[in-house]
Amino acid sequence: MSKAYSNACVKMLTSQDIFFTDILYSLKIEELDCLEVNGNRVLACTDGTSIKFDTELFSKLTLFEAVFVLAHEVMHVALLHSLRRGGRNPMVWNIAADYAINGMLMGQRNMTMPKDGLYNPAYGRMSTEQIYELLMKDEKLISAIELNELADLIDYKGEDSIQELEGKTKQRVADAIAKSRKMYGDQSSSLLREIANIVLNQRTPWHKVLRQFMVSKDRTQNSWSRVNNRILQTRNLICPVRHNNTLRRVVIGVDCSGSITTTQLGRMSAHISDILKQCRPKDVTILYFDAKVLAEHTLEHRSYDVTLRAIGGGGTNFRPVFERVEQHYTDADVLIMFTDLYGDFPKSTSIPCAWVTGTETVKVPFGEVIYAELDD
Ligand SMILES: [Zn+2]
Repeated sequence: MSKAYSNACVKMLTSQDIFFTDILYSLKIEELDCLEVNGNRVLACTDGTSIKFDTELFSKLTLFEAVFVLAHEVMHVALLHSLRRGGRNPMVWNIAADYAINGMLMGQRNMTMPKDGLYNPAYGRMSTEQIYELLMKDEKLISAIELNELADLIDYKGEDSIQELEGKTKQRVADAIAKSRKMYGDQSSSLLREIANIVLNQRTPWHKVLRQFMVSKDRTQNSWSRVNNRILQTRNLICPVRHNNTLRRVVIGVDCSGSITTTQLGRMSAHISDILKQCRPKDVTILYFDAKVLAEHTLEHRSYDVTLRAIGGGGTNFRPVFERVEQHYTDADVLIMFTDLYGDFPKSTSIPCAWVTGTETVKVPFGEVIYAELDD
């Protein structure tokens, strides 16, 4: 560890709420001689599980600035910013998150925001989502921001599923808050109450998790350089940045043997339509199944209005669905299965797969499980 980093850690431990140090010490820390995010040199960045620092840039900060930067990155992790973005523009989301964090940290003692930090008192205590919506409407403000130095949120590409990581992070935040309350009693800061409200009192709805899953399968959506170029060229963010979709086919499997009601199917359809409109795959195919594939329906090219129906209703076998996709839909990039998970699984598959389910007790052999309250 560099001297600047160690000094900042000690200062943070002795001058700030134990919350920050507790989270920081639970993360993987990497110091690099030159830290770049998509070709731009940056001071620090995080993917929600680790924090990287540029040693040289970090050493140029004052001690109070360094403490602020550590706390800032910890806040990105604690507030799940890498996981909550969904289909939003990555750069604008990063900027909105920075405004939200810096607004929360501004009043804290013994830390100073570096002079190029983003702060606007007009945003008060708005959430990252609210600030994002405002930024998307404010072309002038976006144009005035120096883009290259801002990227400090990178996409999470680790082994845990998004929901697993979310669960672990929430536990980590809950533990750190509990530790702080133990140390300071009721004197524990209002900042921590704010963090608890944002992070602990809500479970991310299944459709947001599914959207993040789909986005993660679309390679170009994560490209900062493309987004930056586009913004630099047009300086126009009134419309969301158009996605350079590389998703070819999305296949949706609907388990007709379970207990999904017509009302729930209606809500699911609306959410899926929204997600598809954002991800814009070339084709969408829906397979209805129980013990076999009962019906298949491919949407018209580039139309994304899905209406799921309830048909059939025998025993459940997932294998015919995977066989059908492997044989007939070799261009499938994603398979989304809506099911209670009670059925026979294939041993393996090469298709990226998400299981959207209300069942928490069945272990799947592969793919990402997205727990869903289907009434959401
Ligand atoms: Zn940041």
